[in-house]
Amino acid sequence: MTRKAPATDLVHPDYQPPEGFRALSTPVHHASTVLFDSLDAYRHRNGMDETGYVYGTVGTPTTFSLTHRIAAIEGGVNAVLAPSGLGAISLCMMSLLKPGDHVLIADGAYPPTRSLGDGFLRRMGIEVDYYDPMLGAGIAGLMRANTRLVWTEAPASITFEVPDLPAIAAAAHARGALVALDNTWSAGWFLKPFDKGIDLSVQALTKYQAGHGDLVMGAVTTRDEALWREVRGTALQLGVCVAPDDAWLVLRGLPTLALRLAHVERAALALAHWLASQPEVKRVLHPALPSCPGHEHWRRDFTGSSGLFSFVLDERFDEADVERMLQGMRWFKLGASWGGPNSLALTYRLGHARTAVPWIERGQLVRLSIGFEDVEDLREDLRSGLTRLARKA
Ligand SMILES: *Cc1c(COP(=O)(O)O)cnc(C)c1O
Repeated sequence: MTRKAPATDLVHPDYQPPEGFRALSTPVHHASTVLFDSLDAYRHRNGMDETGYVYGTVGTPTTFSLTHRIAAIEGGVNAVLAPSGLGAISLCMMSLLKPGDHVLIADGAYPPTRSLGDGFLRRMGIEVDYYDPMLGAGIAGLMRANTRLVWTEAPASITFEVPDLPAIAAAAHARGALVALDNTWSAGWFLKPFDKGIDLSVQALTKYQAGHGDLVMGAVTTRDEALWREVRGTALQLGVCVAPDDAWLVLRGLPTLALRLAHVERAALALAHWLASQPEVKRVLHPALPSCPGHEHWRRDFTGSSGLFSFVLDERFDEADVERMLQGMRWFKLGASWGGPNSLALTYRLGHARTAVPWIERGQLVRLSIGFEDVEDLREDLRSGLTRLARKA
């Protein structure tokens, strides 16, 4: 061996990965630089496909493992990762839309999706309209010659209307438009989007895939290879990528995805049915309950339900009452994002969240995300909350 100074050794340790080390977990590969065997190999590098490794932003074995697993869960060909769920939504929009195009976004979509429509998309010269999520095949009447994309979300983020996805998809495809779905609520587990005519499915992996309330990430999964190449190409042009540690944490959570969903499904259903029988509650908005608009679409298209739902309180209670109820909760914490171990509760002012169809319920709305606590503890917490609510100041 020729001389190797300590400073050089810091960079070139005599390290070889262990032979025969067959651990079950995917290693976390940190990389900016990826080495090539020859200049020729570098000159012919291909960052587009996942056939070789080119550079840290372009993908590592850790991130490719995750894209393949998310795509397999949803039943798509492949996925592209984004640094947050909202980042995946904007990546999807930026991949498909150009100035002069028209996009139809469901009223009731995740509110930041509306902000993206009203802000960045309009600023880029894209025409944005909102539509009644229950319109179904009637969406045909809103399609224009330049309509490129119909944005759906199933169910609606806060109000839980379940759209007729196959009818919307058929109407959009008949006019040459694509259909994207925000599939976060089902975690890609309870709704297989590509059987329903969806072209691109977006998820906030932040929620159930990560599942522990400790990171943010998103994914766009596509029905076919050509669409995947469009989204992947845009991500590469924009430099959109995720950190390997975060990708590993999501991979770490996936083996328990079905167990966690089974728990929150059961607990949320028990609490939703219980809430529906309480005199302070006017209406429960849970896709698996007939009181939810589009319940029949949920029954037809979904195989189960997750842990996020809302309820509307009787009209005699005002905002101060619901604040008294929520701020005194013991287990339900106040906070956005959901899908983790902790149950969460929030209330919303829905007045301007809608433009296509007015929100007509006059009672206060509370949205719950059911976590992994014991369901009887949660019921007790809600019971004392309703008692506080009814104790008018
Ligand atoms: C949380 C959420 C998102 C955005 O995910 P982030 O990772 O928080 O950006 C998108 N859509 C829905 C339906 C969500 O609930």
